[in-house]
Amino acid sequence: MSKPKVGFYWCASCGGCEEAVVDLAEGILDVVAAVDIVFWPVALDFKRSDVEALVDGELAVCFINGAIRSSEQCEMVELLRRKAKAVIAFGSCAQLGGIPGLANESSRAAVMDEAYKHAPSVDKGNTVEPIPHITVPEGKLELPVLWETVKTLDQVIDVDYYLPGCPPPVELIGNALKAILSGQLPPKGTVLAPDIALCEHCDRRETKPDKLSVKQFKRPHLTAVDPKECLLAQGLLCLGPVTRDGCGSPCIKANMPCTGCLGPTSNVRDYGAKALSAIASTAGANDEKEMEKILAGIVDPVGTFYRYSLPASFLHRRYQPTARGGK
Ligand code: SF4
Ligand code: SF4
Repeated sequence: MSKPKVGFYWCASCGGCEEAVVDLAEGILDVVAAVDIVFWPVALDFKRSDVEALVDGELAVCFINGAIRSSEQCEMVELLRRKAKAVIAFGSCAQLGGIPGLANESSRAAVMDEAYKHAPSVDKGNTVEPIPHITVPEGKLELPVLWETVKTLDQVIDVDYYLPGCPPPVELIGNALKAILSGQLPPKGTVLAPDIALCEHCDRRETKPDKLSVKQFKRPHLTAVDPKECLLAQGLLCLGPVTRDGCGSPCIKANMPCTGCLGPTSNVRDYGAKALSAIASTAGANDEKEMEKILAGIVDPVGTFYRYSLPASFLHRRYQPTARGGK
């Protein structure tokens, strides 16, 4: 019997999700033995034409990481959607927009200006920007068009499952692969990670008071952090109370607060709003003035509460009266 065919692809992401697959270590050999990897451009020399040659539905599953923000990414994921029976949004960027989704705080024009006119690595006075079409003596050249707005994968194509994390924890990847190979998959739309908050299994849970009363929010690099006490009780912005469990708490173990990469549990519709309300409720202010002073300690509210999920939020992006359409 032929082995199930599997594909991996990346869009707007850093490559960490691809690294996480390699982090399966010797487990990757079991994967290779059990499936035929027929598309994985970051690791093996496959081309778009190899995918086009597949019949529709020939891939048993395709893991797609990264947010979607260009015409090329859109074309590729639409093609992979046709060829795959199941699509998994792999990692925070595909699931929620991720760090690249923070670009929705700016306009496309501002992003291009920064990258091609003001970045320290650009020649002073440069006015040249990439353009999508150009004709040269050798023929016509094309570049992908950068969209105005970063989108999650399920805002562009139908998605069957979500593997959360930045990057997804190796154990969750292994469990997902086992479930796919055994055919024992949960209902469509499931996030393949425990549906409880990170605090539930945190080693510091016993030191978290029932009622928190934070007088000052602190930044980890500017304070001495107790290695045993609940980080939130110390005034560090730990998002464990609103973040999905399943990572093994590597950040907390390294004395760093959780920044929320596994995203929300299933009963939360807007992660950032939930995180904002959870953290604001811990502020121990007696009046409005004191509240303002305490909240001023949160240096970058959007980057703190929507670090991984701005495109998936109700806000979606900064309001831009001049932006045309969703793209
Ligand atoms: S707030 Fe953070 S440190 Fe405190 S119990 Fe929850 S996950 Fe652990
Ligand atoms: S502790 Fe939080 S930020 Fe760190 S890996 Fe887990 S979910 Fe992600």
